[in-house]
Amino acid sequence: MTNWKGITSNDTEYERWKREVSELDEEIKSFIQFDPDLGRKLTDSGRTGREGMLEGIPFAVKDNIAVKSFKLTCGSEILKEFTSTYNATAVEKLIAEGAFVAGKTNLDEFGMGSSTENSAFFNTRNPWNLAVVPGGSSGGSAASVAAGMVPFALGSDTGGSVRQPASFCGVYGLKPTYGSVSRYGLVAYASSLEVIGILAREIDTLERVFETIKGEDVMDQSSLSPDSGESGKEKSGKENRKKTIGIPEELENVDIDSEIRKSMEESLVNFRKSGFDIRKIRIPTLEYVVSAYYVIATAEASANLARFDGIRYGYRDFSAENPEELMLLSREKGFGEEVKLRILLGTYVLRSGFQEQYYIRAQKIRTAIRNDFSRAFKDVDLIMMPVYPRLPFEFENSEMDPFSQKLADIFTCTANLTGLPALSFPISLSSGLPIGMQLMAPPFEERRILEAARLYGNIFPVPIPSRHLGSPIGKGE
Ligand code: GLN
Repeated sequence: MTNWKGITSNDTEYERWKREVSELDEEIKSFIQFDPDLGRKLTDSGRTGREGMLEGIPFAVKDNIAVKSFKLTCGSEILKEFTSTYNATAVEKLIAEGAFVAGKTNLDEFGMGSSTENSAFFNTRNPWNLAVVPGGSSGGSAASVAAGMVPFALGSDTGGSVRQPASFCGVYGLKPTYGSVSRYGLVAYASSLEVIGILAREIDTLERVFETIKGEDVMDQSSLSPDSGESGKEKSGKENRKKTIGIPEELENVDIDSEIRKSMEESLVNFRKSGFDIRKIRIPTLEYVVSAYYVIATAEASANLARFDGIRYGYRDFSAENPEELMLLSREKGFGEEVKLRILLGTYVLRSGFQEQYYIRAQKIRTAIRNDFSRAFKDVDLIMMPVYPRLPFEFENSEMDPFSQKLADIFTCTANLTGLPALSFPISLSSGLPIGMQLMAPPFEERRILEAARLYGNIFPVPIPSRHLGSPIGKGE
C-alpha cells in the first residue's frame, strides 16, 4: 500500500489515476458512483490536523454503507435517488485517519445474492474474465480492488458477501467477529448476522484498516469492545507452539467442484510444510446451515425492509390514490424480484402458527451450530474450508440459478450464524480464475487468522489479473 500513500500530494498522478480508473471501469463497472473529488472534500473537512495512519489513501465503499453526500442506493430502484446525510462509523474512522472515499460500489440489491446480477442497475464484471461474475453481494468492491483501482474497499457480510466475491476476484476478504465493527450506517438486511468487512489486495492493508474501524460504538448497541472475547485469557504461553488447523469431516458429503477440492488438498500440504498440524474435526450440523440461514435472514429482512414504504424516503409512486395503494405500488415497483421473494419467505416463516416450525427451529439449529464450532475450537486453533463449492461462474449460468446459488452459501453462512471471524484468501488459479479458501477462528481472534494467511501469502502471493491498473505511483506494487 506504500505506493498509494501520497496519491493526493501529486496533482498529475491523482488526475492520471482518476482517468485510468474511469476508463477501466467502463469495462468492469464496479462503481455506481465514482467521485474522488467529493471524497477528498469530505476527508478535508473531517480532519483533525494530525497525520493519519491512512493519509491520502483512496478506498471504495459498497453502496449499502452510508457516506455523507454520496448516493446510498443499495443497488435498488427504491433508493435510486437517495443521498446519505451522514457517515457510517467505519467510514468516519477511516476518514479520521486521512483516507478518502473514491466512490460507491455495485452490489446485489440490499445485499441479497452471490453474483451482483441482482443489482437493479447493471452487472459488474470479473477483472479475471469479463464473461464471469465477480461474486456477490459485494461484487463491485471486490472487482475494484482486484483491478487495482483502490487498495481496499468496505463491504458487508451477512452470509458471505465479503468472502465469496473476494474469492471470485482473487483478493483477501475479512468478515470480522459479529459486533467488532459498528453497523451504524450499514443499511440493514439481517441484523443478527451481518457485519461490515474489508476487501484488500495486501494482508497488511487489510489489518491496518481492521484496526482502524473496529471497536465499540455508542451508535450501535450490538457493537462490542475487542477485549470482549476469550483472546486476553488465552494468549499467554500458547503463542509459540505449533498451530493446528481443523478440517470438517463433513466436507466429504458436500458436492464441491473437483478443482476446488484439489486446491484445498494442495493448500493443506503447504500449510503442513509451513509448520501447521492438520486435524479432522466434526461439524455435524453443517448440512442444516443453509436452511437455518435462509429462514433467519429472510425473517429479519422482511422486518428490516418494512421501512421502505414509499412515505418516509425512497421511491414514491404518485399514481396511488390512497396511502395503502401508495405503499403497495411503491414497494411493487421499487423492489426487484429476489428482494420480493425474500420478503415473502420471511413473512411466511414468521406467520403465527408457523413460527415453531420454521423460525424457532432455525434458531435452535443456530445454537447447535454454535456449539459444534465451540467444541471444535477446543482442539484446534483455526478451522479451514472452501469459501464456495463452485468456481466463479458465467453470467446467467443455468446451473447456478438463484436456488443453486443459495445452496452454495453452505460454507460462508457458518461464520454468520456463529458470529465467528472468517477470512477468504487466494490459494490458486484454475483455468485463469481464482480459488479462495476460508479460515475461521474463535471470536475476536482475527489476528490468528491473518497471521496464518500472511504466511500462506509467502507461498502463494496474491495473483494479479491482466485487467489491472498497477500502482498509481511508480506502477507495480
Ligand atoms: N448469498 C448471501 C445471500 O444472498 C449473501 C448475503 C450477504 O452476505 N449479504 O443472502
